[in-house]
Amino acid sequence: MTRQRFLELLDGITTWKRGDRRAPHKPLLLLLALGRLSRGETDRFAPYDWYHDALLRLLAAYGPWRASYKPYMPFWRLQRDDLWEIPEAEAIRDAGRVNRGGDVTPRTFRDFGARGGLPSPVFERLASDPELLEIAATRILAGHFPEGLHDEIRDAVRLESPLLAAEEPEQYTAVRMPRDPAFRRAVITAYERRCAVCGFDVRLDDRLLGIEAAHIRWHAYGGPDCVPNGLALCILHHRALDGGAIGLRGARGSYRLIVSSELSGGSDAYRQLVGISGQPLREPQAPRFLPDPQYVGWHRKEVFRGEPRAA
Ligand SMILES: [Zn+2]
Repeated sequence: MTRQRFLELLDGITTWKRGDRRAPHKPLLLLLALGRLSRGETDRFAPYDWYHDALLRLLAAYGPWRASYKPYMPFWRLQRDDLWEIPEAEAIRDAGRVNRGGDVTPRTFRDFGARGGLPSPVFERLASDPELLEIAATRILAGHFPEGLHDEIRDAVRLESPLLAAEEPEQYTAVRMPRDPAFRRAVITAYERRCAVCGFDVRLDDRLLGIEAAHIRWHAYGGPDCVPNGLALCILHHRALDGGAIGLRGARGSYRLIVSSELSGGSDAYRQLVGISGQPLREPQAPRFLPDPQYVGWHRKEVFRGEPRAA
């Protein structure tokens, strides 16, 4: 299968939307399949129940708010888009187990021990073309979810980025590399799932609410996806770091927070933000995770705005 043909098939589902209503079922199912492939799983098929459970969790977290979800529908319907294969499909049809609406119930899938996966031509192509896999994942995410959720969803479907060479920061300056979900996981874990500035650690059910892995040296400017270039931050402090409102000073191991003297405001939130000036960074679990001074220096020079206000 050519790249172009595959992307046409993908665009076929990506543009499939019912008016204003979100329809993330097929995209999330495909992302689960891409995730398996990206992790090097060689079995093209996984059992219905595996997809059912995984898709249900994804729909509950990232789908529109609904009283119930129907993961069995995309599992059957995606076949029509030539992006899905169920080896047991013919037996299910022959047994007359496709209902009038054109769907198959979870019970039928279980009765037949149904499995699903990418069709052979798609699977073979993506397995030998990791760049295309990455393009596909990016297209699906961009077509369906706001950017602030992309890393989180990649993480949720355990999508690995095979293009990343984790060890060589220099490589990142030459080519724009895709985001690595492992970076997010590693940084957030290093800081024990708390904001390194304020300690924010709120969860909604078992999801972290608004804790992000920030790049100190920006990704777009060659900042590598490694923990010493990262900070776990709440959304506010992530934006503040990216906007140059806050930064770090001092030596590795004794970093202090700096706040731009350009900031203004009158609210309690403003006073809270300014109040962190001079306070120590909440340090990661181990010294090897500490921010590297070269990235801190780049941020101070290229991003931080104005002079630090007096602590
Ligand atoms: Zn914070």
